Amino acid sequence: MTDLTSLTLAQARSGLASKSFTSLELTDAHLQAIEAARVLNAFVMETPDQARAMAREADAKIVKGEGGPLAGIPLGIKDLFATKDVRTTACSKILGNFVPTYESTVTSQLWRDGAVMLGKLNNDEFAMGSSNETSCFGPVVNPWRRDGANTTLVPGGSSGGSASAVAALLCMGATATDTGGSIRQPAAFTATVGMKPTYGRCSRWGIVAFASSLDQAGPIARTVRDAAILMRSMAGHDPKDTTSVDRAVPDYEAAIGKSVNGMKIGIPREYRLDGMPAEIEKLWSEGAAWLRSAGAELIDVSLPHTKYALPAYYIVAPAEASSNLARYDGVRYGLRAPGRSVGEMYENTRGEGFGAEVRRRVMIGTYVLSAGYYDAYYLRAQKVRTLIKKDFEDCFASGVHAILTPATPSAAFGIGEKGADPIEMYLNDIFTVTVNMAGLPGIGVPGGKDSQGLPLGLQLIGRPFDEETLFSLGEVIEQAAGRFTPPRWW
Ligand code: GLN
Repeated sequence: MTDLTSLTLAQARSGLASKSFTSLELTDAHLQAIEAARVLNAFVMETPDQARAMAREADAKIVKGEGGPLAGIPLGIKDLFATKDVRTTACSKILGNFVPTYESTVTSQLWRDGAVMLGKLNNDEFAMGSSNETSCFGPVVNPWRRDGANTTLVPGGSSGGSASAVAALLCMGATATDTGGSIRQPAAFTATVGMKPTYGRCSRWGIVAFASSLDQAGPIARTVRDAAILMRSMAGHDPKDTTSVDRAVPDYEAAIGKSVNGMKIGIPREYRLDGMPAEIEKLWSEGAAWLRSAGAELIDVSLPHTKYALPAYYIVAPAEASSNLARYDGVRYGLRAPGRSVGEMYENTRGEGFGAEVRRRVMIGTYVLSAGYYDAYYLRAQKVRTLIKKDFEDCFASGVHAILTPATPSAAFGIGEKGADPIEMYLNDIFTVTVNMAGLPGIGVPGGKDSQGLPLGLQLIGRPFDEETLFSLGEVIEQAAGRFTPPRWW
């Protein structure tokens, strides 16, 4: 039998259905892989007993022909998703040993469909970061290394554990969240596929909130098809999230292999940055050429307000974060650092419980929302946001079906390399934040490697609720670029 961990989710699904192996075997193979890969620090909590129990249950259902769409498939869960009776921390000290008494809607839908939980995955603290270095559990290591070097690289963030675990074949897919790029950027750094759905497509209920008007859950997977399979289970209306949209969930997998002939693909000129590495330029034109050979028409488009997206994002996101994080006061959840008065207890708890980046965001957010500055910063950023959204609307109204851009301005960088200057770190999100500001779907797909052997990703941006077109186009790129798996060194 081939190594079960090297199968795609779709292949594992067929193998389980034809009884070539059991979910317990598949799950055990992944549990062993996780144990052997602890150096990557991708999991912050392994749940082997629960995984085996869920696998046995799935096997029993498969035998009876009652297995759901994900029956017996072992997955990893970002530690931002509340999991009933399993510690959920958002990788922050302030949540301490918080054990939720409820399950997030997205994960409960995965379990409803028969998936198996292997454990909880590392992420940047409260999903704030682009390198997974702000986690209270320490950084995640990217399974990819530069050719002939052993420098440890970041997997991107904030869903760094999800990306690293999927790339290193520790789980068949993972949940992730994306507020400004946290699904697509780590996918690009690890040669995995990441889908950030339209805002409102997946329920946010039970996911630790960062910036509520931007946050969306989505999958990180080994292939475009696998991402489509996971999306169908993750998506759907939820009355418990008033921003979730009541629209039928399509069969995303049916979009794989659909012709893209005649589709109009926009190439936005504002994404061509000064000083962009030649390798990123090359990747982008290769991506365009692949889509052209599949019959798509490439057209130059303009999204004139792009340059304001990053600064506006870094006002809106911290503003919402400062409000969302007000609830961590030492009273209701996790950590409490005592003080002589309630006020002092709040201060001590928040001072000790939040890491440096989270404190920075809370301070920026509080500042831009304070009287006298609100109009100058927050309100202005909201206006810019409307203009960014309108740029996309105009572009789609002109007949464009999807937009192609690079996913990131560079390949993965070294752990500790970009810690000093927050702006340098924030620049990682330059191609991804626009999509969250406009609430649109975006997919990150591996497009090739740089001269040092590191993966690079392409991004496709779609019309609202048209994830299907992104899956069709993403698969065209995947077919042309091929799949990339890191050589195993751990
Ligand atoms: N890197 C961005 C930030 O730090 C986005 C994070 C995310 O999408 N959760 O805000």
